[in-house]
Amino acid sequence: MHADLSDDEKDHEPVISTGDLPSGERVRLLLTEAHERYRTVTDGHVADYIPALAAASPDLFGLAVAGVRGRTFAVGDSDATFSIQSVSKPFVFALVCDALGHDEVRKRIGVNATGLPFNSIMAIELNDDRTMNPLVNAGAIATTSLIPGATADEKWQHVLAGLSRFAGRQLSIDEDVYASEAANNMRNQGVARLLESYGRLYFDPLDATDVYTKQCSIDVTVTDLAVMGATLADGGVNPVTGVRVVSADTCKRVLAVLATAGLYEQSGEWMYDIGLPGKSGVSGGIITIAPGKGGVATYSPPLDEAGNSVRGQLASKFLSDLLGLNLFASAPAILPAGVTPLPA
Ligand code: GLU
Repeated sequence: MHADLSDDEKDHEPVISTGDLPSGERVRLLLTEAHERYRTVTDGHVADYIPALAAASPDLFGLAVAGVRGRTFAVGDSDATFSIQSVSKPFVFALVCDALGHDEVRKRIGVNATGLPFNSIMAIELNDDRTMNPLVNAGAIATTSLIPGATADEKWQHVLAGLSRFAGRQLSIDEDVYASEAANNMRNQGVARLLESYGRLYFDPLDATDVYTKQCSIDVTVTDLAVMGATLADGGVNPVTGVRVVSADTCKRVLAVLATAGLYEQSGEWMYDIGLPGKSGVSGGIITIAPGKGGVATYSPPLDEAGNSVRGQLASKFLSDLLGLNLFASAPAILPAGVTPLPA
C-alpha cells in the first residue's frame, strides 16, 4: 500500500522504526492522506445490539496521533464524542495491574487468547481459566470486579478517575448509551453469574456488570484515545499532562496482552498486517500503540463481522506502515565505513 506522496516525500524519512515519530509535518501529511484515502469506503455495519449505538452516523471518520513528547495531531471528525466501549478494557486492566501487581492479575484473570468472539460463553466453558484474558467480556468484567473500592460506586469513581488521567482531562459518562446498554446487558450479567459459579469473579455479579457497563459508556474523542494510547507507549506517563498514571512495568504487561488479543478473533490478522498492539471497540474506535513513540487512534462506526471498524483498520495499517511503526519491520544495519560484517 502506498500513499499518493511524491517519490521524494516517500524517501524523505525511513519507514521503519527509528526510535521516534517522524516530523510533525510528515505526521500531519500522512494523517490527511489516510483520511482522504479511506473516507469513501462504505463497507461494514454500525453496531446495533446496543440500541443507542445504532444512532451513530456511518460517515463519521476521525484520526489522531499523540507522540510521547506530547505532540498531538488530528484530522476529520476529531471532535466527535463516542462511547469508549471495549477500548476501556486495557486501561482498566492497567489500573488493576498497578493496584494488585501483574502476577496476581495473571493468576486471577489469565493472559491467553480465546480465539472466540468477545462475548463468548463457549470460551468460558472450554477453558479451565474461564476468564481467559482482560480483553474479552468475561475477563473484562472480572477485571472490573478487581478494581479497588469497597462499593460499586467507589469502584466506578476509581475507573472514571483513572481513565481521565489516561486521557489528561475529566471524562464523563454518556447517560443515553449507559441506559441503553444497561437495559440490554442480560448476556453480560449471565457471563458474570457464570464466572461467579466458577469462583472467577471477585465482586457482586450484577454490580460488577453495572460498573463495567458504565466504563464502556464513558465518552471520548479520537484525540482522547490517541493520548490514552500514548500514555501506554510512554511507560505510563501521560505525555501531554506529564502525570504518571501507571507504572512502566504495567504498560509492558498491558501491551503484551493487547498484542495477543486486542482485535477479537482477528488479532492474528491484525498483528500480521499492522505489527503493533491495538484494541478496538464496537462503537468504532481503535487504538494502536507504538511503544516509545506514541499512540494512533481511529474512529469510524461501521464494523466488519468480527466487530472491528473497517475504515479504522485500513487507516491504522496505512499509518503503521508509513509512519514506520511496525515493530517487526527492520532494515539491514548500516555499518560505519571501514567496518566489515562479522563472518557468519
Ligand atoms: N459494552 C460492550 C459489550 O459488553 C463492549 C463490547 C466491545 O466494544 O467489544 O458488549
